[in-house]
Amino acid sequence: MKDLPDTGPATPPPAPERKIDAQAAIDHFIQGCGSHIGSYLDACIHCGQCSQACHFHEVTQDPKYTPALKLQPITRVYKRHKAPLSGVKRMLGLVPPELTPEYLQEYEELIFDSCTLCGRCTEVCPMGIDIASVVALSRQAFVAAGLGPPDLLQAAETSRDKGSPLGLTAEVLRDRIEWLSDDNEVEIPLDSETADVLVTVSSIEMMKYPDSIVAVAKLMNAAGVDWTISTKGYEATNFGYLAGRGDIAKIMITRLVDAAESVGAKLLVIPECGHAYGAMRWTGANILGRPLPFEVVHITEFVAQMIRDGKLKLRKTEESVTYHDPCQISRRGGATADAREILAAYSSDVREMDPTGNHNWCCGGGGGVQAIGTAADLRHAVFQIKINQVEATGAKTFVSACANCRLTMDESREVLHWPQKVQSLVEVLADRLEN
Ligand code: SF4
Ligand code: SF4
Repeated sequence: MKDLPDTGPATPPPAPERKIDAQAAIDHFIQGCGSHIGSYLDACIHCGQCSQACHFHEVTQDPKYTPALKLQPITRVYKRHKAPLSGVKRMLGLVPPELTPEYLQEYEELIFDSCTLCGRCTEVCPMGIDIASVVALSRQAFVAAGLGPPDLLQAAETSRDKGSPLGLTAEVLRDRIEWLSDDNEVEIPLDSETADVLVTVSSIEMMKYPDSIVAVAKLMNAAGVDWTISTKGYEATNFGYLAGRGDIAKIMITRLVDAAESVGAKLLVIPECGHAYGAMRWTGANILGRPLPFEVVHITEFVAQMIRDGKLKLRKTEESVTYHDPCQISRRGGATADAREILAAYSSDVREMDPTGNHNWCCGGGGGVQAIGTAADLRHAVFQIKINQVEATGAKTFVSACANCRLTMDESREVLHWPQKVQSLVEVLADRLEN
């Protein structure tokens, strides 16, 4: 074979020049400025209290990370086109200027890299402004304009084309379930004809933390649940939602709905993934355009109920444990107390972080930020908050109930050389099963 000429290290191709369609963003914002969004934009009194609540501001002390600033792009459009008397004010020159490509580019990092949609700012806002939902809407407008992190958008498109963002196709799912089932001698029902409960998976678990799938199977089987996983619809994460691609968000939700309907499941269990839970539980019906034909519960809610019903019995440990509340499961999900019930059944030494529960700090990688390469340094810096919180508890075991949090924390742990292991709640529970 002929030697190839030595041309030195390959030079990466220049990033393609982006064509930014500011008008598309304006149109999207105008369409999205319904009355409840308008009331948020009118309500901000610029008090700045939200800055203290945001982990990005807390760590950097940079005023640009004040959450209220993320409202600015949509507020410009609202004041110019939709607010009461905006037509008259426009004629008098009393409205903000139109959005420009340069302006949008300036805000891109704030809308994507530095918002995990954690909702902590809303907790302190005296006007109750839900900045996370405005950021989610803003992402759609930015993407319509041709902006958005390529890696996050790619994850959404891979989900659409391959079934999951991490290449978990139906064939790979089948293979991995067979392998996990054989290796662990646990029954993992796949494609049962009928089932009361459809269990969904997060490809982060399946590809990086497969022991979680085994743990879920052990818990389901021990509780005597009639359940299945389905190759028709299995991926619970919804990168379409996170990347501002409403069309892909709908495809992902439709797959799960079709799978549940095909087996007659009246209950859909979301695995250890926070945003998967939020996307299906709170926005699923709106995205789908009709009521969901089943109840949606997070695995922590399901397990707590099984413990309450006496269907799961655990051998309680005396080992100390602390729990990282995933934002979308506790603060925005409402399953804060369920996790505490489970922890109380698991250990006699539960040590709460400070702050905890609905006020707990984010891991730094929610809202798709985990998948955004340019956000990596910032989210590693943010993780120092979590290190301080966990160390202050002195707990031996550190658990969470979100594989995305776990992946975020594992990556940051490595970068910051922090030795504490992050464990999955379902995995530690499965190890303590009595039945
Ligand atoms: S939702 Fe969370 S990350 Fe986004 S601005 Fe608010 S506190 Fe910061
Ligand atoms: S706390 Fe609420 S009202 Fe105050 S600046 Fe932030 S968003 Fe505006």
